[in-house]
Amino acid sequence: MIRITELRLPLHHSESELRPAIVQRLGLQDAQLLSYTVFKRSYDARKKTAITLSYTLDCEVQDEAATLARLSGEHTIKPTPDTSYKFVGHAAADFYTGGERLRPVVVGFGPCGILAALVLAQMGLRPIVLERGTQVRERTKDTWDLWRKQNLHPESNVQFGEGGAGTFSDGKLYSQISDPRHLTRKVLTEFVKAGAPEEILYVSKPHIGTFRLVSMVIKIRAEIERLGGEIRFQQKVTDVLIEPGQDGLRHVRGVQLQSGEQLRTDHLIVALGHSARDTFTMLHERGVFMEAKPFSIGYRIEHPQSLIDAARFGPNAGHPLLGAADYKLVHHAKNGRSVYSFCMCPGGTVVAATSEPERVVTNGMSQYSRAERNANAGIVVGISPEDYRQDGKRDGSPVNPLDGMAFQRIWESRAYELGGGGYIAPGSLVGDFIKRQRSSDFGAVQPSYKPGVLLTDLQDKQRGSLPDYCLEAIREALPAFARQIKGFDRADAVLTGVETRTSSPLRITRGRDYQSLNVRGLYPAGEGAGYAGGIMSAGVDGIEVAEALGRALLGEQAQI
Ligand code: FAD
Repeated sequence: MIRITELRLPLHHSESELRPAIVQRLGLQDAQLLSYTVFKRSYDARKKTAITLSYTLDCEVQDEAATLARLSGEHTIKPTPDTSYKFVGHAAADFYTGGERLRPVVVGFGPCGILAALVLAQMGLRPIVLERGTQVRERTKDTWDLWRKQNLHPESNVQFGEGGAGTFSDGKLYSQISDPRHLTRKVLTEFVKAGAPEEILYVSKPHIGTFRLVSMVIKIRAEIERLGGEIRFQQKVTDVLIEPGQDGLRHVRGVQLQSGEQLRTDHLIVALGHSARDTFTMLHERGVFMEAKPFSIGYRIEHPQSLIDAARFGPNAGHPLLGAADYKLVHHAKNGRSVYSFCMCPGGTVVAATSEPERVVTNGMSQYSRAERNANAGIVVGISPEDYRQDGKRDGSPVNPLDGMAFQRIWESRAYELGGGGYIAPGSLVGDFIKRQRSSDFGAVQPSYKPGVLLTDLQDKQRGSLPDYCLEAIREALPAFARQIKGFDRADAVLTGVETRTSSPLRITRGRDYQSLNVRGLYPAGEGAGYAGGIMSAGVDGIEVAEALGRALLGEQAQI
């Protein structure tokens, strides 16, 4: 196969124009092009009135070698790389016979745990998955119970339960990680097998939305079980059993569940997500090495989606191949802080995303159609461990890894208080926020957050909703963003807060073998361990950790 990259056509081209364009690029007669498939399709909207589509295509041609030789100087024409997934090994059918080998255990069934468990199961290693939350159907009801009736279920919510944090989300499936082994392709392929639309394989910014994610997660669970894996819900891990080994190092020997049951294992993947604060505390108490890391805090902003579409696509707004427009914005504020848009959800809703009682946390989600009236995104400010250290020291000494959680809790509780209770989020209109005044009435933009938004002064002198340096940086950033998206600082756009769970506040550091720095057999993974930020990168990390575990378990049976 021959891969062509950067084949550009105007947005308004018909499908029949693609084939002649390929033939022309390859310098062939039409009959010499036997077939082609679209590998990727992206758009370039830098000129709103002349948006182009850019294709990456895989072509089957007569006499491929001669064609490649003739076009050897063309950087956009190369042999198609092999993107198929290669397992590191497979367990023999009698791998567990005799009983001396213990099955690997995966804690957490979010994207990282799901992909880790799936790959382990595909290798014949029959993982046992422990998930603290409920199955996704029940979880959906519990989550809506908070949004509709203000009842939080601390073990079954937006953060916890089958599918992990990204289940009620926009389902964006892109990431900026470097991917020399094409592992993102493996994730997408598994998602398509589980019912995701095929287009996620070729559009440049694939997304699937909440509704489809739910049914996909159920199908992947069934596949893991078919392959001999086991998935247990409402099984919170409350302790890890760590014992000294004959090699003088500390080794994982199992886990303790909230039910009191102990489960023995020598290989434990912890894919906890960024909100498992009790489990982070437990691991810290057990002496598992971890360190404080930077993260970001801010608000969610909402605008009419039509404003974003017009700003990004001009007269082409509404074109079906473009869909609802997104944006990505960064501003370096005078006080040295970076403000950026985070987890932008076109045509979506703002959701209550707390996992702890009497705290308010915002995030965003959408359905596949992205047809809701408002666009939303986090507008967040980067902070470092020195900003949130709780001991008041300024001597550069290491920051307690749990301090970031304490800091998040302060602002989440403040938001709850400012909202007046019942998980109502405090809010402000952008115009008032910039002028540092209290908001009283909504304009044309109605906030989508449920159970509701209370307009207030997010910069109240006594009870400010974020540290002053964040407020200052966001006040400066909003008009700056309006220079890129006209109307971004419109007076009636709505800010709701607080957005604190942008990424993990700590890293459970691991070595090159993907194991904890000081506990053998413990594999910290995914977003909670500080090794991913988003569904795709968490899934890829899950695959890599499963491979490392596979190599350790299979020994010389492993291929690489
Ligand atoms: P998680 O998905 O958080 O999964 C961790 C799992 O571990 C949870 O199910 C939890 O219940 C379980 N667990 C924790 N502690 C224990 C314990 N002690 N015992 C047993 N189980 C435990 N990312 C995107 O890329 N695109 C998006 O559009 C997007 N939208 C989002 C919208 C929302 C509302 C939220 C909250 C997040 C969104 N994200 C999005 C982020 C994305 O969801 C996360 O990056 C991703 O889910 C991280 O995957 P993970 O598997 O590492 O952790």
